[in-house]
Amino acid sequence: MGQKRVAVIGAGIGGLSTAAYLAAAGYQVDVYEKNSEPGGKASVLNASGFRFDKGPSLLTMPFVFEEHFRNLGVNPQDYVGFERLSTNCRYFYPDGITINAYADKKRLSQEFAANTRTAPLSIDNYFRRCGRIYELAADLFLFDSPLTTFRNPTGQSLSTLTHLGELGMFTTLNKINCHYFKDRRAVQLFNRYATYNGSSPYNAPATFLIIPHVEFTFGAYNVCGGINSIPQALFAVAKQKGARFHFTMPVTEIVHENHRIRGIKFDNTEMDCDVVVANSDVRNVYRILLKDHNSPMARLYAGKEPSSSALVFYWGIKGNFKDLEVHNIFFSHDYQKEFQDMFRKKHCPDDPTIYINITSKYVETDAPRGCENWFVMINAPYVAGQDWSSEVAKIRKRIIEKLNRILSTDIEKRIVYESVLTPPDIEKETGSVQGSLYGMASNTVSGAFMRQQNRSFIYRGLYFCGGTCHPGGGMPLALLSGKIASHLVMKGEK
Ligand SMILES: Cc1cc2nc3c(=O)[nH]c(=O)nc-3n(C[C@H](O)[C@H](O)[C@H](O)COP(=O)(O)OP(=O)(O)OC[C@H]3O[C@@H](n4cnc5c(N)ncnc54)[C@H](O)[C@@H]3O)c2cc1C
Repeated sequence: MGQKRVAVIGAGIGGLSTAAYLAAAGYQVDVYEKNSEPGGKASVLNASGFRFDKGPSLLTMPFVFEEHFRNLGVNPQDYVGFERLSTNCRYFYPDGITINAYADKKRLSQEFAANTRTAPLSIDNYFRRCGRIYELAADLFLFDSPLTTFRNPTGQSLSTLTHLGELGMFTTLNKINCHYFKDRRAVQLFNRYATYNGSSPYNAPATFLIIPHVEFTFGAYNVCGGINSIPQALFAVAKQKGARFHFTMPVTEIVHENHRIRGIKFDNTEMDCDVVVANSDVRNVYRILLKDHNSPMARLYAGKEPSSSALVFYWGIKGNFKDLEVHNIFFSHDYQKEFQDMFRKKHCPDDPTIYINITSKYVETDAPRGCENWFVMINAPYVAGQDWSSEVAKIRKRIIEKLNRILSTDIEKRIVYESVLTPPDIEKETGSVQGSLYGMASNTVSGAFMRQQNRSFIYRGLYFCGGTCHPGGGMPLALLSGKIASHLVMKGEK
């Protein structure tokens, strides 16, 4: 029998991951990407002497990336370099308090004790709870496919199932945070972790305590050369393993016969294949590529609330700001209203929390001498008919007013380069439905736990990877999704 032919749709982190594994396993792998570069949301912008990572800025779980390279028989250090941050983020509060989220938990406790009414014991107890949830949930929900786990239950997965009550699925992140912390600044800081998957802490299940555990136990990292060097490295290895890449090739249809995958189409050209692994947004796979509006999965995902999106300003800034870290947050007065504005009223928050990432603090060449590259982001609603030019103008003004006040400066005068990324741009550039960053929001238990599995139950030969399916959004999980999908392909397509 000849080599099995696999078509991967999309060269995002999940697609690059699966392509490498399948090519290394001897499949004939062709990756079709509508853009001219690999990386998807993790793309790059070079302009006027500045380099910006356009999407992700914070890397956690670097061991997942190192494992990827090792699994493929190459030395991770030849491809990527990570540097652990000593301060994960600096938080600026509206009352003038600043909290450094030190990576070291003891220092972090002292910082909280010095600036808020938070006893070190509360921090210890909190992280103990976060760690327990990670221990119970990680294997089942992050590192493997529930499809495999339920078929061959291990001691760990059985333990997870017998301790479901401890996973915090039926309470919210905010409620648990309020239980552990009496100081609203501590609550706001830990509530922010819901935004790591585009959700609201007032609705997202407390199972996401896994996220602060991951960030403070395993660390937050700088990536040498910037985040975009991750997809570039994944691309290099996938090519080295034999995957072939076809850029500016948007796939327009997945062809099937009686629910058996036969190939893919680009307008009128058809290409046969045995397996399709879709790295594109799950909702578009059903709606556009399969033209399936009626199967239970198509209906399930079409009805789910998208995750939040982002509004990003890439500013080349004259000057060096010693008070700023690599990652900085300027919190809003009323965090709950911010999420109501986004998810209910579907407009950008009136008083948004502002995130600033400055990679030139560690990659000097990311900005001209005497300047910094500011990635300035607010969480924004998914696309739902808003007038984005007025939203951009409103938010830009608010950001500048707030930063001028807190940093005692005149930001407008310091902007020497500017570019903007809106939710409709994210939708257009990366094919994410309504510009959502992480697929479906995890604002309900079903949103959080009923993600598309990595193998289709309906279409034989169809697999999924990327941030819109299991195990979830964010770079490490998108990478893991590619590995899980490739294992399922190998098991299912003998
Ligand atoms: C502004 C922003 C900030 C973020 N911040 C972080 C962060 O700090 N940390 C973190 O871990 N994550 C962050 N994320 C999320 C992270 O970027 C994603 O979860 C991850 O990169 C998604 O990878 P993916 O495999 O789903 O592919 P995607 O990046 O979604 O790429 C999918 C690819 O498929 C291509 N495609 C789609 N349809 C077709 C088609 N029909 N034919 C051919 N090609 C197609 C697209 O062009 C795209 O290249 C952020 C994202 C954004 C946008």
